[in-house]
Amino acid sequence: MSFPLEAARPVLSVVVPCFNEAEVLPAFHARLSAVMEALGETWELVCVNDGSRDDTWRVMGTLADADPRVALVDLSRNFGKEIALTAGLDHARASGAVVVIDADLQDPPEVIPELVAVWREGIDMVYARRRVRDGESWFKRATASAFYRVIGRLGHKVEIPADSGDFRLLSRRALDELLRLREHHRFMKGLFAWVGFPSRAVLYDRAPRAAGQTSWNYWSLWNFAIEGITGFTVVPLKIATYLGLAVALAAILFGGQLIGRTLLFGNPVPGYPSLMAVVLFLGGVQLMTLGVIGEYLGRISNETKNRPLYVLQDVRPARLEAIGRPV
Ligand code: UDP
Ligand code: MG
Repeated sequence: MSFPLEAARPVLSVVVPCFNEAEVLPAFHARLSAVMEALGETWELVCVNDGSRDDTWRVMGTLADADPRVALVDLSRNFGKEIALTAGLDHARASGAVVVIDADLQDPPEVIPELVAVWREGIDMVYARRRVRDGESWFKRATASAFYRVIGRLGHKVEIPADSGDFRLLSRRALDELLRLREHHRFMKGLFAWVGFPSRAVLYDRAPRAAGQTSWNYWSLWNFAIEGITGFTVVPLKIATYLGLAVALAAILFGGQLIGRTLLFGNPVPGYPSLMAVVLFLGGVQLMTLGVIGEYLGRISNETKNRPLYVLQDVRPARLEAIGRPV
């Protein structure tokens, strides 16, 4: 696909990754268009089909036929949200800023004007921060807040804001820097934060999903958390070192005590249970630390393969020229 004319670049791009979102897409497009129209800037909507198994691609086609501001990117299979988002950002042509948003209307498009207003004040990264987390169980809320606390402690220097998802606005220069990060294990919130530049939060109320199903379960959230931690800190590797040190120290003290007691009182040989406990404990600790090392090693292995991030099946740029006003 050739890169379209410089003259046809919109000021704003909205990027939306979609996985099985056929049901909500038309409603999403309607609500978004209303909001974007009111902004009075030229804009495009970049829809990424992340290997949906429902009608999403066909629905996208219909939207693009009817609205020349809609650009489509079709991935060859499901690559996951982070990569779908990256594909969309790669194809965003905005000269001013790009907005990242979910298709399920959990991120209300009505917040976009506020993001844009802050961007116009010269802020590069405007992230939407959830005021409340509606429609989520207390368990999900508790684990999410624990995660942000942990990563806040560990990921020194890179400050990952709590309670903000991917819903945000990036200036063109922030986007360009972000696009230089081509790692395969993409913890987007962390990457956004890594880029730096002036950033500010805008508060909003997150709605429950409008339709369809969340593709997240606790297992994928757990993996997401591991991704975040391994991507931004090597502290777990250090923990292994200090854990080993502490255990070795305890063993020396314990051994000394055993020797002392044998010399002073003879040796009544107590101890199958304590022996078993120590062996099992140490075995567990060793396997766990090996696992931690494995997490990092696996990521190194994945990164060194140096595969492309995604495979495109189809691309349809927006046809801004088709809109009857100068762009
Ligand atoms: N998504 C995607 N690929 C995936 C999973 C999700 O592109 O493999 C998209 C999905 O269509 C939605 C956004 O990512 O636009 C957020 O997904 P979801 O609503 O399932 O996550 P949650 O809101 O529960 O965090
Ligand atoms: Mg959602």
